[in-house]
Amino acid sequence: MKKISLTGIKPTGDLHIGNYFGAIKPALELANEYDARYFIADYHGLNTMKDPNELQSTIRHVAAGWLASGLDPDKVIFYRQSSIPEVFELTTMLMAFTSKGLMNRAHAYKDAVSKNNLKYEDTDAGINMGLFTYPVLMAADIIIFDSDVVPVGKDQLQHIEMAQDIAQSVNANYKQQVLKIPQAAIQESVAVVPGLDGRKMSKSYGNVIPLFAAEKTLRKTIMRITTNSQTVDEPKNPDESQIFQLYKLFADDKEQSALADRYRAGGMGWGDAKEELFRAANRCISPIRERYNAIMSDIPSLDKILAHGAEKARPIAAATVKRFRKAAGID
Ligand code: ADP
Repeated sequence: MKKISLTGIKPTGDLHIGNYFGAIKPALELANEYDARYFIADYHGLNTMKDPNELQSTIRHVAAGWLASGLDPDKVIFYRQSSIPEVFELTTMLMAFTSKGLMNRAHAYKDAVSKNNLKYEDTDAGINMGLFTYPVLMAADIIIFDSDVVPVGKDQLQHIEMAQDIAQSVNANYKQQVLKIPQAAIQESVAVVPGLDGRKMSKSYGNVIPLFAAEKTLRKTIMRITTNSQTVDEPKNPDESQIFQLYKLFADDKEQSALADRYRAGGMGWGDAKEELFRAANRCISPIRERYNAIMSDIPSLDKILAHGAEKARPIAAATVKRFRKAAGID
């Protein structure tokens, strides 16, 4: 039997290059080797997305993004989290095995608390229970499909470790392998895609290169990348430039070493470096963008694909819940 790969993306904003190289592309590569289950984490999105129109359109944007990037819904079970009620039943069961202390240690929650403390606000101001219990829902997403590997960016590692801890508590209690222990699959070479300002590319930093930007916007965005004050003539170190780090994502080895030589030789300004990046990025993104636009022009077909995926996913999810209920004495 093939092993199972599972991952999800929250519909909380426009997809960017970091999402593509850090999450979507490695996940699609794993789908050649594993039985893949990929989904839109829309109930995770609800924690922050309170405008219904915006949430609905972002769900479709992310779904179309997966498909445009090459997800084949005949091979991958592709669905919306909200279409699988068993996930929420499992979440409730997992809550009973999750210590509050574990949640207190979650990075996202701790960050929110420290921001409040810095502003001398109430410790838990603006923090909803969806954010606090986020790792339990994510553990249920993963565990419900008996997932072996979870392809994610480095920032998600703690969540996978928490899923392992929670599943282990269940198994230890019932002295049997009720739930499968998942493993993270992190591609080191693209573990953190830098943004325009050199920090991790993230929508919360406003430093992203959108995946489906029209050609003109893509060029304009790349031209905004922060650079140092080195002159055109000065030799430049490609390894210290986020322009080159981004270029590496789009270029083959030969192109990379040719451009690295030009950086080191001097005589190439940051403007030219950005132009090279734009050319390589546009070459890679154009076909994805075209497919994306085609998918978004036929929403009923997109919704049908997701509904069909949910139909395939639910019996698998139900079997896990049944197994757990039986072990727990609630059958
Ligand atoms: P954002 O940081 O923009 O809010 P998300 O948290 O929604 O992005 O991330 C969705 C997926 O994309 C996650 O698996 C995450 O690890 C991955 N990801 C996001 N940004 C990056 C990045 N800059 N480099 C690598 N992977 C990333």
